[in-house]
Amino acid sequence: MNNQLFINGQFVPAKSGNTIDVLNPANGELITKIAAAEAEDIDLAVEAAKNAFPAWSEMPAAERGHLLLKLADLIEENLEELAQLESLDTGHPIRDSRRLDVPRTAACFRYFGGIADKIEGSVIPVEQGFLNYVVREPIGVVGQIVPWNFPLMFTSWKLGPALAAGNTVVLKPSEITPLSTLKIAELIKKAGFPDGVVNVVPGYGQTAGQSLAEHPEVGKIAFTGSTRTGQGIINASSSNLKRVQLELGGKGANIVFEDANIDAAVNGAAWAIFHNQGQACIAGSRLVLHENIADAFLEKFIKLAASIRLGDPMDPNTEMGPLTSEAHRNKVLSYTQIAKEQGGKVLLGGEVPADPALQNGFYVMPTIVEAQPFDRVAQEEVFGPFVTVLRFKDDAEALEIANCTEYGLGSGLWTQNIHRAHSFARKIKAGMCWINSYKRVNPGSPFGGMGKSGYGREMGFEAIHDYTEAKSIWVNVDAKIPPHFQRGE
Ligand code: NDP
Repeated sequence: MNNQLFINGQFVPAKSGNTIDVLNPANGELITKIAAAEAEDIDLAVEAAKNAFPAWSEMPAAERGHLLLKLADLIEENLEELAQLESLDTGHPIRDSRRLDVPRTAACFRYFGGIADKIEGSVIPVEQGFLNYVVREPIGVVGQIVPWNFPLMFTSWKLGPALAAGNTVVLKPSEITPLSTLKIAELIKKAGFPDGVVNVVPGYGQTAGQSLAEHPEVGKIAFTGSTRTGQGIINASSSNLKRVQLELGGKGANIVFEDANIDAAVNGAAWAIFHNQGQACIAGSRLVLHENIADAFLEKFIKLAASIRLGDPMDPNTEMGPLTSEAHRNKVLSYTQIAKEQGGKVLLGGEVPADPALQNGFYVMPTIVEAQPFDRVAQEEVFGPFVTVLRFKDDAEALEIANCTEYGLGSGLWTQNIHRAHSFARKIKAGMCWINSYKRVNPGSPFGGMGKSGYGREMGFEAIHDYTEAKSIWVNVDAKIPPHFQRGE
């Protein structure tokens, strides 16, 4: 297990010699200590990325793509080890790490490996006599800050487009969950990426993250995390006006209309909130039910949620593991009291499970609370297995509820009415809308939000645009330009 910084193709200790404890969220025990990057390590990593940039950006794009494809193959070859590391470090149930996190990580690198030599520019129809063409150029050294909820997958979402487009990278994983990303660093070396193209520097946000966001040699910072830290990143980035891409919080409305297939919607709504213990920015954390079907829906939904198997993430039968840190578990639990203080009704959970085998881990029971649209539990991101139920009487009210938070990331609709489905999808203030489904992601499909959910898009060609600068080049082919300054002779 790698526990050092990956700088310029080498695993090295932090200059300060400081380390951070990495804990197993299933029992609170120490897994390992990792090197803690600080400002001087970030300087070294940025220097390495800067030195690697000219050769990497000028390398034939197909060769860059080939390295990304090789990395995807290596990830598949190391599926079991990566899945185990991810589950050990984050608490993801191993069945999900095996069938979702690792395959999706490989798929993302493969997609961007394929795109690398297909990043085309354009020719603009301008006035006669001129050729105007636009090329897309890499930005340079890119800083990337990855959170603890999907460390492996988010590493690929960030590295894939940045590298395909010819940038070099300094990536900071969360200090809570760095292990799978350090394994990716090892595979990057094995695949044959030139030294310095990718540098991985786990460390605290306030020190390592802040230094990266402020660094004058970093041309772009891509961040996934909370809205408040995202706002801090914008401030830190202002010194050199670096580009900023933010993927922040969400409060996804998952709306079930009267005509929905109820059994499919019950199952989909449970996945929308309880997958990864609800620690997902796109989670369907507001379940918005038509009043005529709400009671029947809730009866089935509560029954299903109560039957979800909580347990050791390493057990293939486990469907929900612990939350990723103790501090976060406590934050999630505090929302039960917040809901009650505002008149909310707890329909299920709201506490730690009674099972004595789970007492040392950071577990929370699946929690269902009924509340009103402007209550705190219906407005703030809880980021746990905690869903807020809201009722509506007609389509107008459903839309009003869907759009009444500051966020705009994921959303879902369950209906058999094709007109209503498409019309709602257009009117919902969200970067993504799933119809009769929830939480689908694909490396080709843009992912990102609006409002306080941030800006910029990960994945798809949109991501390539976010990791390149458009340069417009004008050529005078045979234009006769009258002199701009007429003189007498
Ligand atoms: P943060 O936004 O504080 O952390 C996310 C990442 O940013 C971590 O890698 C963190 O490092 C880093 N970071 C923290 N402070 C700075 C800084 N000043 N400069 C640069 N990087 C920094 O979120 P939290 O982990 O505190 O979680 C709080 C809430 O944020 C959650 O409850 C959830 O609502 C939301 N969140 C949303 C995510 C999403 O997917 N959109 C992901 C994670 C959280 P470090 O680990 O050291 O703090």
